[in-house]
Amino acid sequence: MDESRKNLVVVGQGAAGLAAALAAAQVGRGAVRVTLVDKAAADEAGGNTRWSPSYMRMAAVDKVEPSFVHDMLAATQYQGDETYFATLACHAPETCKWIQAQGVEFIQPTYYLAKGPPRIQPLGGGPVIVKQLTLAAQKAGVAFRYGCAARDIVRDGERIVGLQVESNGQHETLPADAVVLCCGGFEGDGAKMREHFGEGAEVMRLISPGGKFNTGDGIKMAMALGAEESGDWNGMHAEPVDARSTNSAPVVLVYPYGVVVDKNGQRFFDEGGGLVHETWEWFARDTQFKTPGRIAFAVLDSRLLAIDGYERAIRSEVPPARAETLAELAALIGVDPAGLEKTVAAYNAACTGDPAKFDATRCDGLKAGATLVPPKSNWARAITEPPFLAYPLVGAVAYTFGGLATDARARVLRGAAPVPGLYAAGEITGHFYATAPNAVSVLRAFVFGRIAGLEAVSFIRA
Ligand SMILES: Cc1cc2nc3c(=O)[nH]c(=O)nc-3n(C[C@H](O)[C@H](O)[C@H](O)COP(=O)(O)OP(=O)(O)OC[C@H]3O[C@@H](n4cnc5c(N)ncnc54)[C@H](O)[C@@H]3O)c2cc1C
Repeated sequence: MDESRKNLVVVGQGAAGLAAALAAAQVGRGAVRVTLVDKAAADEAGGNTRWSPSYMRMAAVDKVEPSFVHDMLAATQYQGDETYFATLACHAPETCKWIQAQGVEFIQPTYYLAKGPPRIQPLGGGPVIVKQLTLAAQKAGVAFRYGCAARDIVRDGERIVGLQVESNGQHETLPADAVVLCCGGFEGDGAKMREHFGEGAEVMRLISPGGKFNTGDGIKMAMALGAEESGDWNGMHAEPVDARSTNSAPVVLVYPYGVVVDKNGQRFFDEGGGLVHETWEWFARDTQFKTPGRIAFAVLDSRLLAIDGYERAIRSEVPPARAETLAELAALIGVDPAGLEKTVAAYNAACTGDPAKFDATRCDGLKAGATLVPPKSNWARAITEPPFLAYPLVGAVAYTFGGLATDARARVLRGAAPVPGLYAAGEITGHFYATAPNAVSVLRAFVFGRIAGLEAVSFIRA
């Protein structure tokens, strides 16, 4: 081993960690030894990225929408850091082209049913990101260590000198002149979930297996060095999934076109409060925290099947419960029949708009009469055409928002100044408030992961 070489350790093999390690190895050109450690075994590593379709909010591979920064600030209810999002917008085109150069092909995907902001998607989604960037990183000389959990950052005074890791129950200290933390949020830690979201969060389903490794380790390690917090600690990205499915991310996103009830057959939510990606987080959270038994039921009629491309909005492998009457449907799904019949009758009576206006692809303005509580603001079409259909749904968490404060150079902040040699990117960094800006998580992991890798090498060289 060449002892004169400097060392960079990157923690986490998701989009952020891979971008950081690859960028560092490419610019370090052998002078900086880059090691990427992941807590998971090789066939499970890749975190949420591995399970994600990875839609990215880009007008094209080399173009963001002109309104990007404004849209990000609006999504965060103006609590977000404008410099952070402006940096994201500025570097996104070159970063996407760089990812493309590593063998990842981008397509313009068709997205669920409702139209939203433009997006690109890596062909093959998250698994392809993990595969191609890992190959590129290996080729660039990055060493990978699996089953290797980062536990502590070791310092000599203010200077980072190592990263303590645990592997097969053994602790060792890897030499490190700088560390890039890309090891996700805390959705995989039940106790922390409960601490921040309240009772019931500890049993919330993970939307896919990758999240279980993200237990807030990096956040804790950096905070032990005095790192500043950022992001909404009561914020998480969650979506409604089919309670019966055992697949990853079996989302059911047709609920806006019918009603959603609890076990008593009561509505509790404005199903048409916005496009599906504007309502899914609150629907999933209300289901988890406000319904008896933490379960909800989307009830629709056969006209769902006439909506062009409706299958795109259902990622469950389990067909819906189906019956000729509402009472039979209620019995099939374990909902109070009288409650369901009464709720649907009240809903139908409030559906006084012209059903010809119904348009699943946009907020169609077909709202229910003002007497309906809770309201239904769009797609209020009566449920009258058997067979009646139902999906039992639970809320599932994808990732959490609370994390580390970083600046535009991906440096972890302590007060106004950076912690020397410490960088972070991806879910581990806060920056999200209120609701997750749609299709931005992978994009920001790439952009700030790459910046972190480049900055860490500059720091080491300096
Ligand atoms: C089903 C699903 C769909 C999604 N869809 C989209 C989408 O379309 N668009 C979008 O932008 N986002 C989407 N997301 C979110 C997005 O995929 C993630 O937020 C993003 O990929 C996170 O990347 P990351 O690199 O920060 O973290 P991750 O990809 O989660 O990687 C973190 C890595 O750190 C490792 N790790 C954790 N702790 C340690 C430790 N102590 N030591 C070593 N390693 C550790 C983990 O094993 C993991 O490999 C989706 C997420 C899911 C689950």
